[in-house]
Amino acid sequence: TGTAPLLRVSGLEAWYGESHVLHGIDFDVAPGEVVTLLGRNGAGKTTTLKSIMGVIGKRKGSVVLEGTETIALPSRAIARLGIGFVPEERGIYSSLSVEENLMLPPQVRPGGLSLEAIFTLFPNIKERLKSQGTKLSGGEQQMLAIGRILRTGAHLLLLDEPTEGLAPVIIEQIGRTIAKLKQDGFTIILVEQNFRFAQTVADRHYIVEQGKVIDMIPNAELDANIDKLHRYLGV
Ligand code: ATP
Repeated sequence: TGTAPLLRVSGLEAWYGESHVLHGIDFDVAPGEVVTLLGRNGAGKTTTLKSIMGVIGKRKGSVVLEGTETIALPSRAIARLGIGFVPEERGIYSSLSVEENLMLPPQVRPGGLSLEAIFTLFPNIKERLKSQGTKLSGGEQQMLAIGRILRTGAHLLLLDEPTEGLAPVIIEQIGRTIAKLKQDGFTIILVEQNFRFAQTVADRHYIVEQGKVIDMIPNAELDANIDKLHRYLGV
C-alpha cells in the first residue's frame, strides 16, 4: 500500500528455556489493519504475541513499532509505547469486582478510553460493575479483558483467541466489537483457530508453521485459497 507499517516483525526468534520455538517470524501490520495469525496447535502463534509484548524469557530479532526497536525493552516499556495484550486465559481476577478488574492496569499513555467510552462499546460491563469477575459469562469476561486493555491507551491490540469457547451469538458480538475498534483506528493482531470468524473481521491472514510465517493470504482471496488453507491448518 505504500503506508509505513505500524509494526514490523523480522527474524523474530524465541525460546522457553532451552526450547527454541520461534525460528524467524516475519510479518508487518499497517496502521488500522486487522491481521490474523493462523496455524496449527503449537505452531507458535501465542508465542509470537508474547514475544511482541516482551513477556517471554529469551527473544531475538527485530520488532519495530512506529520506528522504535522494542526487542530489548521490558514489557512495561512496550506497554507504554501503546501495545496491549489480551491473553487467551483473559486474566480476570475472581476475587475482584468487574469495576476493580477494569481499573487494574494503569493508564500507560494518553488516549486511554474513559470508562464511559468502554461502556459504550460493552454495555453489559456497565450493568455488571459490582459483580465479581467470576460471575461473568465467558463472553462478558472476554469483553472485560478487552475493555480493560483499552483503558491503558494501547492502540495496537494483541488478541489471543478471543472467541475460544464462546457461543456463536457471543462470537458475533466480539466480531462487531473488533469491527468497531478498527473503525475507531485501532490496529489488531488476532490469533484465531476459527478461520471462518477470522474471515469476517480481518484484512489479511498470516500462516504460522513451526515457528515461521510461511504464507500471507489477503482476506479477499481466502475463499479462493481454501484448499491451501485447509492443508496449512490440517482440517
Ligand atoms: P496453541 O493454539 O496450541 O496455543 P500456538 O500456535 O499458539 O498454538 P504456542 O503456544 O506459541 O503455539 O506454542 C509454540 C510451541 O512452544 C509449542 O511447541 C509449545 O508446546 C511450546 N510452548 C508453549 N508454551 C510453553 C511454555 N510455557 N514452556 C515450554 N514450551 C512452551
